[in-house]
Formats: sequence, C-alpha cells, structure tokens
Amino acid sequence: PKSEDQTILEAYQWLAKLYHHLLYHTKDGKKGLEYLHQRGFSDETIEKFQIGYSPPSKDFIVKFLEKKGYHRQLMVKAGFLTTNDQTNYYDRFRGRIIFPIRNAIGKTVGFGGRSMDGQEPKYLNSPESDLFQKSKLLYNFDNARSEIRRKSEVILLEGYADVLALHQAGAANVVASLGTSFTDSHASILRRYVDTVIICFDGDTAGQNATYKTLKLLKKAGCYVKVAMLPNGYDPDQYIQEFGAEAFHQSILDTPASEMTFLISHLKKDYNLNSEGDRLQYVENIISEIALLESSIQRDHYLRELSEQFSISYEALQQDLAVKLQNSK
Ligand code: ATP
Ligand code: MN
Ligand code: MN
Ligand code: MN
Repeated sequence: PKSEDQTILEAYQWLAKLYHHLLYHTKDGKKGLEYLHQRGFSDETIEKFQIGYSPPSKDFIVKFLEKKGYHRQLMVKAGFLTTNDQTNYYDRFRGRIIFPIRNAIGKTVGFGGRSMDGQEPKYLNSPESDLFQKSKLLYNFDNARSEIRRKSEVILLEGYADVLALHQAGAANVVASLGTSFTDSHASILRRYVDTVIICFDGDTAGQNATYKTLKLLKKAGCYVKVAMLPNGYDPDQYIQEFGAEAFHQSILDTPASEMTFLISHLKKDYNLNSEGDRLQYVENIISEIALLESSIQRDHYLRELSEQFSISYEALQQDLAVKLQNSK
C-alpha cells in the first residue's frame, strides 16, 4: 500500500496539472492568463513554471479529488482542502494564480497561490508538512541547479514573480525562498553548489534588513556574497517591467556591491552621522566587520575607504583594526 506521503505527492502532481490546464482552458482561467500576460509573463515562461489557476468555486477541487478516490481528511492534511467540522469540505485555493513549488528532484510538493483582486493574504501557501518544509525548499532550485553549478554562482531573490521575471530576462541561475526567511539549511544547500551568492531582494527597508540577515547566514556557511541593490520601491520584477531586461543586467545584476560596500551603507541607518559619538560608534562597528574579512588586501581597501569618508587617519584605523584582530584570535 502507498504511504500517506506518496499519496499526497501523487495528488500534488495531479493538481499541478489540473490548475495549469484550467488556466488555459476555462473562461475563469482566461482571467488569470490575462493577468499573467499583462504582468509581462510569456506563455513559454508560464509553461516552464507550470503556472496555474484555481477556480473561484468552493468545491471544484473537492469534487476532482473525490473522483480520483482520495480521502478528504488526507487532502486536508495535504493542504488542498479545508474543513471546520469534518462534514463540509472546501477548496483551499480559490480564484488564485497557482505557483507549483517543486522539490530538488522536480516533484511538486507545495503551492503558492496569489490573489488577483487585492484579496488578503496576497499569497497563500500550502501548509508546512514533512513533504513541504519551507525552511529547506528553494523555489526553482530544480530548474536552476545545473546552471547554478556551471556558474558556481546563484542569484537569490525574494519572490516567485521575481524568479519568473529574471528567468525570462535570461538569468537561469535564480532561486527564491518561500516567503519565509532564508535559513541555515538553505545556505548549506546552496554552498554545496556555489562559491558566490548574489542577493537581489526588494528595494525597501524590509528587503534591506532581510539582505543583512541573509548575508550573515551565507557568510557563516562559507559563501562569498555580493549584493545587487535596487532603487527604493522596486523589486526585480518591477524593475524589469519598467526599465527592461537589458537595463536590469547593466545597472543592477552585473554591477553588484561587495559585501562590505553593502554593510557600510546599511549599517549607517542605525546611526545619526551628524553626531560625533554616533559617528565614532559607527566606524567602530564597520571596523569590526572589516576584521571579519579574510583577505588583508580587502581589509586594507575598506580601511582606506573608511578613512577617506570620515576623515579619520588611516593609521588610527589600522591600530584599531589590529586590536580587533588580536582579540578575535
Ligand atoms: P507580486 O509581484 O506578485 O506582488 P512579490 O513576490 O513581489 O509578489 P512580496 O510582497 O515582495 O511579493 O513578497 C515576496 C514573497 O513573499 C512572495 O513571493 C511570497 O512567496 C511571500 N509572501 C508575500 N506575502 C505573503 C503572505 N501574505 N503570506 C505568505 N507568503 C507571502
Ligand atoms: Mn517585499
Ligand atoms: Mn516583491
Ligand atoms: Mn513583485
């Protein structure tokens, strides 16, 4: 007999196919398709990612799964259905664009469902389960893996739409975490394939803070990190929509900031640099970050930059750094 996990896995493959079919072959689905086209996603991209549409009905999926002979309670566990009373069952995803989330071997193990009419939550994801562990899965990893390995480099994004947009813009080595924070497990998965991770998160405060946390995790895992920063108010998808793929490559992706350049700019936020006390604390903070760099050439480079920016003598900074390096031994 099949295990519960096997049954759920099989149901996921059926549903992914069904949702994708409904996008192209039903009247309601056409609305979803128009929405995707209007956001600039091509049919080729939609096919590649097997994007789908869940009908606005309350029991379309209930009936489909019933016909296939699946037990309702198990389908609730899988996250396809909901119930309050174990008597009435409803579709979990209704009137949403469906992003199938595949595991490393290309099996769909979860869905991300985006509302199209402003309904909250904007994204509804499958519930956490043995099969669907958000802390270990990366969106598009199965597609991107060979290119990630070939380049020894991965571009890390925030959202599903960003992955589609960058893929369409010719960058195949792209993944995203699933709306939750990036974890140690994510970092060690990526580390097996790459030396360098380029973080390209949303250009807002949330995105910057997430970049900082993610950068620290990636460093801990032994990755070399660069940061492709977006102007405030843009995410990669929006930037490409507005300025085009070529501009995105030229101005954002191909000219990432070094880890230290990002930190120097990011850590400024916590200080009022007009106050002398704050300014000195900030400089101390940056020197601590510089002390963590492996290469003495790099350490020297950023020390000089700091010296120029804050009109502090290079020798004084050097002494400070030497103390920090000594203490960290
Ligand atoms: P879109 O371009 O479709 O508006 P986005 O990816 O830019 O989507 P963000 O708000 O930047 O959306 O969120 C980034 C990611 O976080 C999403 O792709 C999704 O995985 C996740 N996410 C966003 N909102 C939610 C939510 N309410 N619940 C769960 N996950 C969410
Ligand atoms: Mn965001
Ligand atoms: Mn976004
Ligand atoms: Mn977006």
